[in-house]
Amino acid sequence: MATTVDVMVIGTGSAAQAVAYKVREAGWSVAVIDSRPFGGTCQLRGCDPKKVLVGVSDLVDWSHRMQGKGVSGPALSINWPELIRFKRTFTDPAPHENEQAFAQAGILTRHGRAHFIDRTTVEVEGETLVGRHVVIAGGARRATLGRRRRLHRIRVRARRRPRRRRCQGAASRQPTAQDV
Ligand SMILES: Cc1cc2nc3c(=O)[nH]c(=O)nc-3n(C[C@H](O)[C@H](O)[C@H](O)COP(=O)(O)OP(=O)(O)OC[C@H]3O[C@@H](n4cnc5c(N)ncnc54)[C@H](O)[C@@H]3O)c2cc1C
Repeated sequence: MATTVDVMVIGTGSAAQAVAYKVREAGWSVAVIDSRPFGGTCQLRGCDPKKVLVGVSDLVDWSHRMQGKGVSGPALSINWPELIRFKRTFTDPAPHENEQAFAQAGILTRHGRAHFIDRTTVEVEGETLVGRHVVIAGGARRATLGRRRRLHRIRVRARRRPRRRRCQGAASRQPTAQDV
């Protein structure tokens, strides 16, 4: 027996959430499906944790680079275990909080990889779901190049590389043996 909804959303990241809550508010039945913890890249592995990690790295870097230029005292250093513990204070609870928020909004949730059976039907962990509308918010993945394309890229790069290079200007580094 298939579960049928007005809108079936594959993914639970920013794109999925933007659609799911809006259409649910409009009174439509909605299901979200994700094969990974609920929340998507931005919240769990991308933007949010990155901002903290990059922010701390910047702070430490600046504290080193500004020594003797108006900043004095012991330079800062990164305490990696502590930093990761802090990151986990907001990434670890997120999947459960997202799941609760979906449930409170009346959105059906399913864990597992969605496999299309036809244009409006997917199979998730042995269950069949049908969506009158289907939103694919599965995120992006870098393309993997086949061997032939990889070789082609290497050859193109090799052809473009100048045989000799001349460095000009005060900011240029000194040429090394690899430059010629
Ligand atoms: C390190 C890093 C830092 C970033 N920093 C920023 C930033 O500072 N600012 C910014 O604007 N953007 C940033 N981004 C980009 C941002 O994270 C993405 O643009 C955004 O997360 C995309 O959201 P999405 O909902 O489209 O996909 P995602 O958040 O990737 O969600 C897709 C979800 O779909 C699920 N899924 C895929 N296929 C299936 C399937 N068949 N069945 C079930 N589930 C499936 C996946 O498990 C995943 O959870 C960053 C990305 C990375 C990697």
